[in-house]
Parts: sequence; structure tokens; C-alpha cells
Amino acid sequence: MPNVVQQTQPAAPPPATAKKGPRGAVTIHATWCKGCRICVEFCPPKVLAMDESENYPHVAFPEKCTACHFCDTHCPDLAIVVRKLE
Ligand code: SF4
Ligand code: SF4
Repeated sequence: MPNVVQQTQPAAPPPATAKKGPRGAVTIHATWCKGCRICVEFCPPKVLAMDESENYPHVAFPEKCTACHFCDTHCPDLAIVVRKLE
């Protein structure tokens, strides 16, 4: 009879309690923005979208912002600011 090795998995951690609602407040300064789309293309939860003119981004889904600060740390013109919400 073959030896049977029993593998036991560690107990799964309790599910993280996901906070509802936005975790960041996004402000876009259109006068400084050159419309390069970096913030729109690389925001992980796709909070931002270009406006109808395709010249500037706007905050399309504010409730999705995780305050990861990708957009404001990569904007070449410092035209976008994220304030972390408590
Ligand atoms: S802080 Fe992160 S999640 Fe919020 S708009 Fe910027 S890139 Fe998107
Ligand atoms: S990364 Fe900055 S300059 Fe580029 S579209 Fe976004 S706000 Fe405008």
C-alpha cells in the first residue's frame, strides 16, 4: 500500500474588510494639463477618462479611487492632485 502524505493547508486569513467608497479625492488642474493621457491610461481602477474634447481628463468614477497616487506622481505637469481621505 503506497504511503499517503497528507498535506494540510494553513487556515485562510479572514477576509479583509473592504472599505466602501472613495479613498482619495482627485483634483485636476486643466490649465496645467497637456492632455498626455498618462493618468487616464494607467489608473488601475480606471477612475479617470478624457472629456468629450479629448483634451483633458476628468474624474469619471470618483468612488473607485484607491488613493494609490499613481496619477499625481506620474503626471509630467503636476496637474493632478490626490488627497487621501480618512
Ligand atoms: S490615485 Fe490611483 S486610483 Fe486614484 S485616480 Fe489616481 S491613479 Fe487612479
Ligand atoms: S498625466 Fe497630467 S498632463 Fe497628462 S493628462 Fe493626466 S493630468 Fe493631464
